[in-house]
Amino acid sequence: MFRAVFGESIVARGIKAGLLEIDCHQIRDYTENKQGKVDDYPYGGGPGLVMSYQPVKSAYEAVLRDHLAEDGRKPYTIYMSPQGTPFDQKTARRLADMDRLVIICGHYEGIDERVIDDIVDEEISMGDFVLTGGEIPAMAVADCIARLVPGVLASSEAYENESHSDILLEYAQYTRPEVIGDRKVPEVLLKGNHGDIEKWRLDNSIERTRVKRFDLYEKYQKRSREESTFYFDNSATTRQRDEITRVMNDVCDRLYGNPSSLHRMGFQAEKELTAARNKLLELIGGTGFGKLYFTSGATEANNWVFRSILPANPRLGRHVLVSAVEHPSVNESALSMRDAGYEIEAIPVDSDGRVNLDKLTELIRPDDTALVSVMHVNNETGAIQPIEEIVKLVRKLRPGALIHCDCVQSFGKLPVDVKKMGVDLISVSAHKIHGPRGIGFLYAGKDVKLRPLLYGGGQEGGERSGTENLPAICGMAAAAGLVCENIEANYLKAVKMRNIFKEALTGSIRACSVNTPEEGSSPYVLNVSFPGLRAEVILHTLENYGIYVSVGSACSSHKKNRSSVLTAMGVGKSSIDGAIRISFSPDNTEEQCVYASKILVTEIKKLYAIHSRARKNSAGQ
Ligand code: PMP
Repeated sequence: MFRAVFGESIVARGIKAGLLEIDCHQIRDYTENKQGKVDDYPYGGGPGLVMSYQPVKSAYEAVLRDHLAEDGRKPYTIYMSPQGTPFDQKTARRLADMDRLVIICGHYEGIDERVIDDIVDEEISMGDFVLTGGEIPAMAVADCIARLVPGVLASSEAYENESHSDILLEYAQYTRPEVIGDRKVPEVLLKGNHGDIEKWRLDNSIERTRVKRFDLYEKYQKRSREESTFYFDNSATTRQRDEITRVMNDVCDRLYGNPSSLHRMGFQAEKELTAARNKLLELIGGTGFGKLYFTSGATEANNWVFRSILPANPRLGRHVLVSAVEHPSVNESALSMRDAGYEIEAIPVDSDGRVNLDKLTELIRPDDTALVSVMHVNNETGAIQPIEEIVKLVRKLRPGALIHCDCVQSFGKLPVDVKKMGVDLISVSAHKIHGPRGIGFLYAGKDVKLRPLLYGGGQEGGERSGTENLPAICGMAAAAGLVCENIEANYLKAVKMRNIFKEALTGSIRACSVNTPEEGSSPYVLNVSFPGLRAEVILHTLENYGIYVSVGSACSSHKKNRSSVLTAMGVGKSSIDGAIRISFSPDNTEEQCVYASKILVTEIKKLYAIHSRARKNSAGQ
């Protein structure tokens, strides 16, 4: 069989030219029994025969004797089987890079499982159908790999532009004659304009792929989108990872029972809910120290702290301290409690945006401060607050006060450990870590007296009613696992990416000032000002290149007032109006940063040139 196929055409030419070598071995030649039997009845009964261990193993060892690499490495060994991974061009390219391959062809009902365990590196399938043996698939694989070996095909171009070598199917091909019946070769192919021909071919490829292979078309669309999008607004929200979407779809499919239901499906859903809760609790170092309640996000968690938990602890006092740079979901919900008789004071920050510890010492009331809320990482500037020092101070001056920390911008990026931090309450949101939107959690230490914000069916131990969003909860737990596993590597990557922007901008634009503190800041955020320019104009200019950044904080950028964070840091009005926030994720690449920062520099220079011309003109008028 093999001689007939490999003795002809392109593969035969490759062998003759010394570019390829294909050896065939007859397994039957290696049997140790007199009858030359290679197969036997399957244990446990059933139809067909199974190839025995001994002849396959002996044949393989004979091949090894001739083909061990110089360093003693065995050749990569493939077993053709309908149970393997479906073969495709990507696999072919990977295999074509190997020096030598052994392909084992099964026959009958298969081969003894123990041979596969002993010698096979990879099982490959031709698709979801069954043939009489592995020979034809082995020929197909060998043929496909052979034509990728340099020199086997006449010109390398022949395999670069073909169906499946990229995502798109190949364009329609025509040869002479020009006219067949009433069908004529497309005009553009006859005119000889290479640009037009290329364009026609690409369009034709895209359209054919859409019609014939919608699955590949979708992949192509996704890749095109990814290649032309430079998303640097990750502090506002992140792209949900495909694997998280898969986790969530699986939960929707399998675990749609209500965790509160008493039947088995409810029990299974509850089991997953508990697993997600325990995993998250462990990731924040809270196992055994407190409880974790799922909420619709950090906004709800923050509101819960001020609007319900604070009044649930009336004996703590009526005085509340929040840092001057909190997210509106902290700030506004704190201020809303004024009507209920609470006194809310802001803790001033220094020019780096960090809480001023002396001021905090002055502000704490040893007999009345009920709650202190300071975020971990600032969403606009990336400044890290000295949480442990703040906690020490509060515990010393007002031991009973509750301490809340909004960890939305730090969880999954910096180590968040509630024990080490010493805080009572933290808020987290999933959509900042490539998880789904509309889900987050509040952690509360064991001793914190709770009162629900939402009443109803008594879910979450009665503390937060509403049917649990299990797909999103499992998505959040999976997303948290992914980021927390890679905190260090992701951190170093973020430092590099931030520095690319920082150096490009401060090195080329004199007026540029950096609002993110040099030390003690999260590398995932870079806030820079271009005084005299308007941040919205910069944002929309970049958008034309597929580059997305933010004006101040995305949550407050629809509001017309100036950033309260930069104002609290003492940044001037003109610098605030020209401030943009570039925020990173592990999904960004250094190449993207180089590209986007170059465009940013060029466009800012152009905007400054227009700005100074406009000023000169108005001065001359
Ligand atoms: N706190 C901080 C620091 C944030 O950055 C955000 C989101 N921008 C929130 C809270 C609110 O989170 P969510 O969108 O999940 O309600």
